[in-house]
Amino acid sequence: MLYENERNIVLNACREMVKSNLTVGSWGNISMRTSDGNVVITPSGTNYSKSTAEDMVVTDLNGKIIDGDLKPSSERLMHYEIYRNRKDVMAIVHTHSIYSSVLSVTDDRIPPVTEDTAMLLGNGVNVSKYALTGTLELAKYVVEGLSSNNATIMKNHGAVSVGKDMERAIVASQVLEKSAKIFITAKLLGTVNVLPDQDVTELMKMSDNYLNQWKNWK
Ligand code: 13P
Ligand code: ZN
Repeated sequence: MLYENERNIVLNACREMVKSNLTVGSWGNISMRTSDGNVVITPSGTNYSKSTAEDMVVTDLNGKIIDGDLKPSSERLMHYEIYRNRKDVMAIVHTHSIYSSVLSVTDDRIPPVTEDTAMLLGNGVNVSKYALTGTLELAKYVVEGLSSNNATIMKNHGAVSVGKDMERAIVASQVLEKSAKIFITAKLLGTVNVLPDQDVTELMKMSDNYLNQWKNWK
C-alpha cells in the first residue's frame, strides 16, 4: 500500500474528529499533503468509525487518482485550492461542528476571545462567502476566508482548519469549536470582551513552539 504512514495519520485524524463530536454522519473530510506533493484524502460519504487506512485515496493536486479504490471526497477542490495557495499548509480538516455552524448561519466572525483562540487562530476567525458544496467557487471563497490564518467558518456550511501538520490542524478545529461555543455563550450572557491586539500578536508568536512537545500520532 502506497503512503501507508500518511493514510494512517488521516485515519487517526478522522477518529479524533468523530471522538470530538466535530461532525455527524459522513460529513466533513480530512486530507494531508505528502512530501512529494500528492494528497491523501478521505473517501466521499464514508463511515469514519468503520474506515481503514486502505479506504483513504491518494490523488495529485489535479484530482488524478494515484492510489485507492474509493471515490475521493466531493470537497477535494477546496483541499487542492488551499494547498496551492498556502505552501505552509500540510493538513486540512473540514468539519460540520455545531457551534461553528451556528456562526456560519448568523454570519458572525469569532474575535480573539481567549489565549488558545489567539495562539492557534490569530486575530479571530472570518466567515467565508457562501457557494455550493464541491464547487471551485466555494474553494476560492474558503482560501479568501482563510487568508493567512489557520481557520475559517464556511457560510451556511461548517468550518475548515489547517496546520503545518495533522496534529495542529485537528487541534485548530477543536480550538475553533471551543471558541465558537465560548463566543456564542458569552454573547448570550452579555458583553464579549476580547484580548488586546498587542497580546494577540505575542500569543501568535508563542504558538509555533508551544505544540512542539505534543506526542504526534505517527
Ligand atoms: P464528502 O463526504 O464527499 O467528503 O463530503 C462531505 C462534506 O462535508 C462536503 O462539504
Ligand atoms: Zn462539508
